[in-house]
Amino acid sequence: MSAVYEVINPANEQSVKKVDLADLAATDAVIEKAAKAFESWKKIAPSDRAKLLRAFAQVVSDHREELAKLEVTNSGHTIGNALWEADNVANVLNYYSASPERLFGKQIPVANGIDITFKEPLGVVGQIIPWNFPILMAAWKLAPAVVAGNCVVLKPAEFTPISILILMEIIADILPPGVINIVNGYGRDVGAPLANSRRIGKIAFTGSTGTGRVIAQAAASNLIPATLELGGKSPNVFFEDIADADDDFFDKAVEGLVLFAFNQGEVCTCPSRALIQESIYDKFMERVLPRVAAIKQGNPLDPNTMIGAQASQDQLNKIMSYMDIGKQEGAKLLIGGERNMLSGALADGYYIQPTLLKGHNKMRVFQEEIFGPVLAVTTFKDEADALAIANDTIFGLGSGVWTRDGSRAYRMGRGIKAGRVW
Ligand code: ADP
Repeated sequence: MSAVYEVINPANEQSVKKVDLADLAATDAVIEKAAKAFESWKKIAPSDRAKLLRAFAQVVSDHREELAKLEVTNSGHTIGNALWEADNVANVLNYYSASPERLFGKQIPVANGIDITFKEPLGVVGQIIPWNFPILMAAWKLAPAVVAGNCVVLKPAEFTPISILILMEIIADILPPGVINIVNGYGRDVGAPLANSRRIGKIAFTGSTGTGRVIAQAAASNLIPATLELGGKSPNVFFEDIADADDDFFDKAVEGLVLFAFNQGEVCTCPSRALIQESIYDKFMERVLPRVAAIKQGNPLDPNTMIGAQASQDQLNKIMSYMDIGKQEGAKLLIGGERNMLSGALADGYYIQPTLLKGHNKMRVFQEEIFGPVLAVTTFKDEADALAIANDTIFGLGSGVWTRDGSRAYRMGRGIKAGRVW
């Protein structure tokens, strides 16, 4: 370990902690350690691996508040989101703990005998994760790999390593050494050597589409499997029938739109494009804009705070540059549009006002992932128009459909090219 990284609290720009940064040699050494541990770990009985994972989940539950506070300090999340995240880490670990004894093979009758297949672990799995939900993204990847008998080398995003590093300290007595290994460092120094290593059996990645492409190329060159979870620009479609009554459903649709700001908009499935039927546009926006204006930003540790700080200075700059791009493209600013300068201890925090930009789907603010509390709003005429706009994107991660018509919801759900439609 040669260099250190100063982790910053995005809510007040204060230093949190200095952490070691690994390099190529350190990454190789950790991969070697994982490869050695694999020789014993793969022999542990599935039921014992399940027990260990359940113990891991219990420790997470026991330390949920501590982990949530670390997450707030490192990533700018609100405490409410961070507690939700810690609880979900335990849920994910518990969920996968049920699987080791269910990794069945097959018996296939063949001429003069039977073929038997087994699900074998791959060895060392490299995992590269992003900064938006550090411990949850880690759990999604660690749990299935480890229960199946693999050992893991995981690289957090360089500026959000704290919660994972502390989590590893907390569970140090549960799993044998070398089963889960964290190497902190930059993409070029740790991520790239990890993805390109000939000692790994698989690479799993969550992050930007551009980096995902690089990871896929590394996996292709080594002929190993890759799992990629990449970006999104998810359409949230609001049909005119939502306004047929001023009831709970209409109110829920308003809330559904405001979800663009959940976790400061730093969510890959964030519904960041709103498509509103033109006949209800004015009526709907009359309800939406006050709701957006009421979003409370502030100290992330205050349970009443609804959105916290963006995770880093770079992310803040990137989001603000999209505000300028939107203005230059002729998008109309409906609300927000500025950095939110809070006072006192939060004066230097990376806060951005929840923002709505109205324009058309060809604009860059509709086509590129901003990963902040910025919603691109447009209108459509009818169902065919809505579907065409929804699908006019390079992404295909998520989508929302709001209507009182079940058949239309079904048609749109099938028609939208997205991994998940809610
Ligand atoms: P974002 O733009 O959201 O920060 P990235 O794709 O750059 O997304 O980062 C996601 C993760 O990928 C982080 O852990 C980052 O350090 C890592 N990473 C970045 N570049 C590379 C690379 N060339 N090879 C491997 N990992 C990388």
